[in-house]
Amino acid sequence: MRTASLAASTLALLSVASAFVPYKLPDLPYAYEALEPAIDKETMMIHHDKHHAGYVKNLNAALETVDASVQELELEELLATLRTLNLTDAQRTAIRNNGGGHWNHRMYWTVMTGQSSQNDISSELMAAVVEGFGTISNLKDELLGAAGKVFGSGWAWLCMDLSYGDLRVTTTANQDNPLMNWAWVGRRCNPILGVDVWEHAYYLKRQNDRKAYLDAFWDLINWEEVSLNYHMGL
Ligand code: MN
Repeated sequence: MRTASLAASTLALLSVASAFVPYKLPDLPYAYEALEPAIDKETMMIHHDKHHAGYVKNLNAALETVDASVQELELEELLATLRTLNLTDAQRTAIRNNGGGHWNHRMYWTVMTGQSSQNDISSELMAAVVEGFGTISNLKDELLGAAGKVFGSGWAWLCMDLSYGDLRVTTTANQDNPLMNWAWVGRRCNPILGVDVWEHAYYLKRQNDRKAYLDAFWDLINWEEVSLNYHMGL
């Protein structure tokens, strides 16, 4: 009996483990030094290889402890429904911080490029920017202004309201993002551009000068990618 029940519980563990496909750290879409001088190579190496890698590792560790029904959720759905899933507080906090950390950084790398050009904005996204902010320069002021006011660690976002299709600027603390139902202000907003304002994103080169980092970030934006994000959400 004892042997049989041990074998059964081992099998149950194996079947849970085999259902779960761990998240992987994606490669940067460019070389570590590709964003210099705006963002230096060493910052990118630490940020990607240590910080982002840590979020992936800790997300996987947290997901290994939860039911298969939760493991199987797409990351976006996991974050959007996290508040109401049947999890312990420790599991929920670990997934919130590290699942958010993984999702946010995965986007952050792709919305930057060493060959930024505002000519790459699609006409549809530009029309939405004009409707929402008047001009691209106003969007810059609003996004970077919001990013500058984040107290402590967090993110600033350009997101698209899923109900109305209009654009909004918003901010979140820590590794939260506007997909998470903590962050909803009545309606879910899909991020199309995220700015990391944790000090680890800029401190080596900029020290406490967040504004210098934000101004440099604006000139790195991959508008083709942001346009794709906008169109995928429509
Ligand atoms: Mn970061």
